[in-house]
Amino acid sequence: MSTTLDLSRARTGSAPGMNATPRAPVNLSGLTRSQLQTALMAADVVPADKARMRASQVWRWIHQAGATEFSAMTNVARETQTRLAAAFTIARPEVVERQVSKDGTRKWLIRTAPGIEIETVYIPDVGRSGALCVSSQVGCTLNCTFCHTGTQALVRNLTAAEIVAQVQVAKDDLAEWPSDKEDRLLSNVVFMGMGEPLYNLDAVADALDILSDNEGIGISRRRITVSTSGVVPQLETLGTRTQAMLAISLHATNDTLRDELVPLNRKYPLAELMAGIRAYPGLSNARRVTFEYVMLKGVNDSPAEARALVNLIKGIPAKVNLIPFNPWPGSPYSCSGWGAIETFAAILNKAGYASPIRTPRGRDILAACGQLKSESEKVRASVRRRSAGDQAPGEESPLAPN
Ligand code: SAH
Ligand code: SF4
Repeated sequence: MSTTLDLSRARTGSAPGMNATPRAPVNLSGLTRSQLQTALMAADVVPADKARMRASQVWRWIHQAGATEFSAMTNVARETQTRLAAAFTIARPEVVERQVSKDGTRKWLIRTAPGIEIETVYIPDVGRSGALCVSSQVGCTLNCTFCHTGTQALVRNLTAAEIVAQVQVAKDDLAEWPSDKEDRLLSNVVFMGMGEPLYNLDAVADALDILSDNEGIGISRRRITVSTSGVVPQLETLGTRTQAMLAISLHATNDTLRDELVPLNRKYPLAELMAGIRAYPGLSNARRVTFEYVMLKGVNDSPAEARALVNLIKGIPAKVNLIPFNPWPGSPYSCSGWGAIETFAAILNKAGYASPIRTPRGRDILAACGQLKSESEKVRASVRRRSAGDQAPGEESPLAPN
């Protein structure tokens, strides 16, 4: 049975400059405002006294208008356009595959460099109008036992350009340019795709600066949620540097079970995690933390565990998102029954916590939470070195320990 409505292979230009190699031209879409200004000066594209103004113009063309070619920048002199094009790119990466679910969920497979394929999902009617679920890494180091991405080795961290490109590709497809147009379909961004965002915090933070800028894509920081499995030492930096909304993948209320489901718990156990969350900058009733809790039949879904959850999060401005487990081929769990999920939710509600049950979306195109797994293989370091030419030092250092 085929449930996919639309499957097309679109080629929207090549992917140079997704910053994968030092030789490719830098894609300006991945630079923050100040980085953009510096880059324009460093490349001698504009004189220092004009840099700020030019950077502002170029910024608006990229992030407000969605331009993909410098020649579209009609208020920039021809000669400057030519110099920009010689030094930089603003091309989109290649969209390798596009799928649309019966329920309106859309999934794109985006190739930004050889072997780097990124999955991105748009879910309608989430947040103010619709949320884009973006990836921060290809693969993941963390091996949560219920997560499909966790079965794929980490290929590499994504650059800020590659994170922003996911939003640009979605906006292209949803016809969301210019960015200030009314009734936007893409109102929220959630870092709940592939990878652990807090192991790639620099790029995630730069991407947040870019996406939230009012003269550009303009998605407010309060509508951008970063989900983490609990990298405790990075929580404070996340809060101060990005002011993003925080989501924590909790899934268990005691260390024994969490050690098994989310192996990172062995490094940062619950007591440390909860202390880190309580100290998250900017937490308030208006800016609550979301606890994600995947409902696994007979594993973590009893009424006693719901009560333990209430105890664990007592005093924290929070809501709980109950996620029906999304099975994937070969997954070792099954989803709790609706009765168990409703009983669980009722206990949380009675204790004063909003606890929406996340409607499974895009299941027919394997686009639901935790189902993303690209075919990108972890390329051996030597092969990668060869294909990347003279790679920057440190590029291959281990990203973060398990
Ligand atoms: N690495 C980050 C963000 C990506 S995962 C994190 O773990 O928070 C996004 C959410 O999907 C997490 O809450 C994760 O626990 C959940 N998830 C993973 N696999 C799932 C599955 N098969 N069914 C339902 N939710 C899943
Ligand atoms: Fe990685 Fe998140 Fe999946 Fe765990 S749930 S393996 S941290 S992507």
